[in-house]
Amino acid sequence: MIPFDFEYYRPDTMQEATDIFRQLESEGKTPVYYSGGTELISMARVGNVIFDAAIDIKNIPECRVLEYDQDNNLVLGSALTLSEITESNQFPLLGKTAGRIADHTMQCKITLGGNLASTIIYRETVLPLLTAESRAVVASHDGLREYPINEIFNQRLNLEKGSFLVKIVTNRGFAESPYFHIKKTKNEKIDYPLLTTAGIKVGGMLRIPFSGLCSYPFRSMQIENILNDTGSFEERADKIADTVSENILNDTSGSSEYRKFVLKNTIINVLETMKDV
Ligand SMILES: Cc1cc2nc3c(=O)[nH]c(=O)nc-3n(C[C@H](O)[C@H](O)[C@H](O)COP(=O)(O)OP(=O)(O)OC[C@H]3O[C@@H](n4cnc5c(N)ncnc54)[C@H](O)[C@@H]3O)c2cc1C
Repeated sequence: MIPFDFEYYRPDTMQEATDIFRQLESEGKTPVYYSGGTELISMARVGNVIFDAAIDIKNIPECRVLEYDQDNNLVLGSALTLSEITESNQFPLLGKTAGRIADHTMQCKITLGGNLASTIIYRETVLPLLTAESRAVVASHDGLREYPINEIFNQRLNLEKGSFLVKIVTNRGFAESPYFHIKKTKNEKIDYPLLTTAGIKVGGMLRIPFSGLCSYPFRSMQIENILNDTGSFEERADKIADTVSENILNDTSGSSEYRKFVLKNTIINVLETMKDV
């Protein structure tokens, strides 16, 4: 049970959503945008989050699109569920990544926007977007703006108060590039990642982002330069592990030493798997 009362809004347009947010704020209330609700509800139940109003964005048509625009970019609405993305198979790497988050029942509820804006540190769906250099379309009271995901997502999705993610736009060529996805967990297949990587190969160069390795998901040019450099696979893996060494997570899922070991093996695995692709 959620131990507090809150108002529920389900706007039909982006403008209506941001207007409601603004109005509620001006009344001294704390509104939140609500998408799949999996995180908001579970956190509200245990008192980790309190809000006066939930603004459900699922009725807004732009948040539900799954289409190609006139420039042949793939457009994915932020309120699409993980299972809708996987089943569409339009962005195979994103589908694969989404298909390894939680279980199938939860994947039918969790949304792309909710995962990207999640307070949970993993936010695994950002990995394919970082490598594909997707763009995020954000609605605020002033209208719509588009940002490179690599700018607006810096450790977390940095949205201005009152704005929300509407959709993600991805170049079709990147969305269809050869890819790799590796998710290592402590015990069970369905679990938070000890380490996840989900990258692509473009123009002979590998792009390799990580979740679970540090306290936020990231893509690093320094790591990719080493990855694509010469030297044996083992040498490259050692160098990469050294560059992130200080920031590697150390928690009950795995010590930093163990994560470093998993990282090196993962890099060698990626290099071997992708060498002839
Ligand atoms: C059993 C289980 C296992 C999980 N395992 C993993 C895992 O392995 N890896 C992983 O990455 N995640 C995992 N998660 C986390 C899960 O992905 C998040 O709970 C999910 O991301 C929340 O999505 P939602 O659509 O339900 O968001 P909601 O609960 O609706 O919202 C979550 C947050 O995002 C904000 N928000 C939602 N939509 C938008 C938007 N369009 N624009 C701006 N802000 C928005 C909300 O205000 C809220 O702060 C797991 C969750 C569960 C329940």
